[in-house]
Amino acid sequence: MQQFDVIIVGGGASGLMCAAVAGYRGRSVLVIEHTRKLGRKILMSGGGRCNFTNIHNTAANFLSGNPHFSKSALSRYPAARFIDLVERHGIDFHEKTLGQLFCNESSKEILQLLLTECEWAGVQLVTETRVEKIESTDGGFHLNTSGGELQCESLVIATGGLSIPNGGATGFAYDVARQFGLSVGEVRAALVPFTLQPHDLEYIKPLSGISHDVSVSCNGTSFREAMLFTHRGLSGPAMLQISSYWNPGDSIEINLFPDLDLFEWLKQQRNDHPKSDLQTLLGRLMSKRMAQALCEHWQFSGHMADLGNKRLEEVAHQLQHWTIKPGGTEGYRTAEVTLGGIDTDEISSKTLEAKNVPGLYFIGECLDVTGHLGGHNFQWAWASGVAAGQVV
Ligand SMILES: Cc1cc2nc3c(=O)[nH]c(=O)nc-3n(C[C@H](O)[C@H](O)[C@H](O)COP(=O)(O)OP(=O)(O)OC[C@H]3O[C@@H](n4cnc5c(N)ncnc54)[C@H](O)[C@@H]3O)c2cc1C
Repeated sequence: MQQFDVIIVGGGASGLMCAAVAGYRGRSVLVIEHTRKLGRKILMSGGGRCNFTNIHNTAANFLSGNPHFSKSALSRYPAARFIDLVERHGIDFHEKTLGQLFCNESSKEILQLLLTECEWAGVQLVTETRVEKIESTDGGFHLNTSGGELQCESLVIATGGLSIPNGGATGFAYDVARQFGLSVGEVRAALVPFTLQPHDLEYIKPLSGISHDVSVSCNGTSFREAMLFTHRGLSGPAMLQISSYWNPGDSIEINLFPDLDLFEWLKQQRNDHPKSDLQTLLGRLMSKRMAQALCEHWQFSGHMADLGNKRLEEVAHQLQHWTIKPGGTEGYRTAEVTLGGIDTDEISSKTLEAKNVPGLYFIGECLDVTGHLGGHNFQWAWASGVAAGQVV
């Protein structure tokens, strides 16, 4: 039977980071990945350029039952530390928007960085290996795997959440947590596009492909980013962000012109262009196709000179307080993350060790720590991986 100081289940972002840090401390480390490929989500991320961190990252960028939980790990391994690592590996990057850092070339560079670090730290990596059974022993854990029996002192679960099931996602971390008596909170798909009910989809579907800058609100939280119309509903960064705050049955409110006092603008247009029609003028503020579809749907028509203040106020209100009740989301099939997860009350925020199960650690997305869009989820994977890697 092979014996390791540390076994890490899950060869993704947090697992590889944790492995390298523990390996550099002289620990013997094995990473077990059940698919053929390590770090698949890193490769898929950021449209192939991996939005690997965010320079503005703080604990405020995470949803969690305990908003303080992520502070310890994030403060000890802030974005600047990962940026140093990226620079040391000679990877060129740029800030896209809102502090989001992307590789200039490819996400492959971030995966290669982690694999190189693991190699330098003497980490062993196995793929296409399933963990069939875990038992605690006197000095640690005994694992039955498809590759044989293994023994370790510290066991780290880094198998992520449920999003992208055909990319290798499983509920393994939640099962292990339950096996050892930890509670697992409700989970659902987040950072995910909305699907719409048939009556809304009818007028929105033809707008598929159009992007528009909006402010969107739900349950007291707002995001100011781009919205994208799709043939299934609404997507783009603004919608992905707000999906984390949305519950089935909730409405979202969209302001199509967050920087404009639209009522004042319409009155001014009526003065300046009394013979123009409303739809033509609105086509100056958004794409013509969008103006046409929305005007037809809301029956906005007529020459400006014929429209009284009351009507202009109604038009402005509709466009700046567009309330829509999504039918649902695209679910785990396309979600970037899983919201919720293993209850953080059960885990040490300093070491990521289960408080009641010495030697068992949970890191990354499987915990009830869910980042906003924009590099925050990777920053949590790095920081939680380092925090555990320093003590396992
Ligand atoms: C399409 C997409 C794009 C994204 N883009 C970004 C982005 O640009 N920036 C950002 O910050 N975040 C992004 N994310 C989110 C980010 O990828 C995750 O939050 C992050 O990878 C979580 O790290 P993790 O280590 O917890 O899990 P993962 O990186 O998902 O790693 C988990 C690993 O465990 C393996 N595994 C699962 N079950 C088992 C099992 N039973 N046995 C063994 N191995 C198992 C999986 O195959 C996987 O390799 C994106 C996600 C998706 C889906």
